[in-house]
Amino acid sequence: MFESLTDRLNQVFTQLRRRGKLSEADVDAALREVRLALLDADVHYSVVKKFTAGVRERAVGAEVSRALNPAQQVIKIVHEELISTLGEPERLNLTGEKPRVIMLVGLQGSGKTTAAAKLARLLRSQGERVLLAAADPYRPAAVQQLVTLGGTVGVEVFTDSRLNPPELVQKAYEQGIKGGYSILIADTAGRSQMDDTLMDELKAITRKVKPADILLVVDSMVGQEALHIAEGFRDTVTLTGLILTKMDGDARGGAAISIRSVTGVPIKFLGVGEGIDALEVYDPRRLASRILGMGDVIGLIEKAEAAFDLEGTQNQAARMMSGKFSLEDFAAQMKQIRKMGPISQIFDMLPGNLGKVAQQVSPQDAEKQLKLTEAIISSMTREERREPDILNASRRRRIARGSGVDVQDVNRVMKNFREAQKLMKTLQKTGGRGLPKIFG
Ligand code: GDP
Repeated sequence: MFESLTDRLNQVFTQLRRRGKLSEADVDAALREVRLALLDADVHYSVVKKFTAGVRERAVGAEVSRALNPAQQVIKIVHEELISTLGEPERLNLTGEKPRVIMLVGLQGSGKTTAAAKLARLLRSQGERVLLAAADPYRPAAVQQLVTLGGTVGVEVFTDSRLNPPELVQKAYEQGIKGGYSILIADTAGRSQMDDTLMDELKAITRKVKPADILLVVDSMVGQEALHIAEGFRDTVTLTGLILTKMDGDARGGAAISIRSVTGVPIKFLGVGEGIDALEVYDPRRLASRILGMGDVIGLIEKAEAAFDLEGTQNQAARMMSGKFSLEDFAAQMKQIRKMGPISQIFDMLPGNLGKVAQQVSPQDAEKQLKLTEAIISSMTREERREPDILNASRRRRIARGSGVDVQDVNRVMKNFREAQKLMKTLQKTGGRGLPKIFG
């Protein structure tokens, strides 16, 4: 997915490398791809429409930052808009008298019981005294499952097959007070369908114990249907949050955008596996990257920008403009590149021709080369770094010995340095406008 969206955007943009601003036609072409990607990720079409309109408004006429190519610029805007659509992370409402009740609702098979145990484990690790209530008396297997999971996470489970769900939660609540528990997690009954009996039961529970949180557990794999489910539960009880489960599966969680955007209910947790520790506190940035199927791309885009904006770069630029680019600057540049992360990832990120050229070099070789260059430069005296012209044959031999390499390696580094220096001169002449050519 990442490859296809990024590649598709890159293709769209090959014709328009760095014209300075994104035109309407450019943006529309890019948004066609974004729209397809979102529909593909199961986002409801009405949400896609609203979303792309928002992106369009921001993107048309936007300056393309020097650190990014146009495709990356669009991805960045899409990602930011997605984060704002997904909403700020919200925590549990853990206030009020103890035990605070967290009620989990959802359809059968959504991962509700698993989520109850995961949540119990998480809260327990945060120092809470947690009691679980198995309020699903119609399915003995579900009760047994919670008892087993409770045992795994070291949390007591309240059960009583003679009671109906509202009575059971009430009793568990009383037990919670007596036992000095700070949190009661109620795993309510799940049916395969939303029906009146289920909804009445849920309402009855909320009347008895006044939950601090009512979390809807939704299977992210159900796609569009999730929106319908969320609306159904929201109309019955006051949902305070969502737990999206099975985010480790194929579904990229496009349903999350739809639910959040249409119902306004905040996402609080993601279930990311069957294991009892596979619960993530919701983070909109991560989820947005995931929905776009772009993994770490966003992180790298940000790193590229940050590296580009570094104060050091500005100082270097100032020196470059004054016609000086020393080996010290060269070494600082190397360091910046390394700061951006593993070189193989950076290669993938490089725009245009530079990316293609870079891909012909193996990451291991490049990494080795960077290290070698650093070692060689650090074996030089301060004077040599500032005035590379004084590096005659005997000095080069000394440096080679000092850094444990051959003289040829020193010569190669010097050649690379001279090329970088030439490049800087070009930039100096064009006032930075030479950059598009290098990246184009
Ligand atoms: P309930 O009927 O809503 O209580 O659902 P369960 O908690 O019994 O979960 C149904 C199935 O989904 C079980 O096989 C769980 O192991 C599985 N499951 C629950 N959450 C996740 C998750 O986040 N990822 C994956 N891969 N499986 C999950």
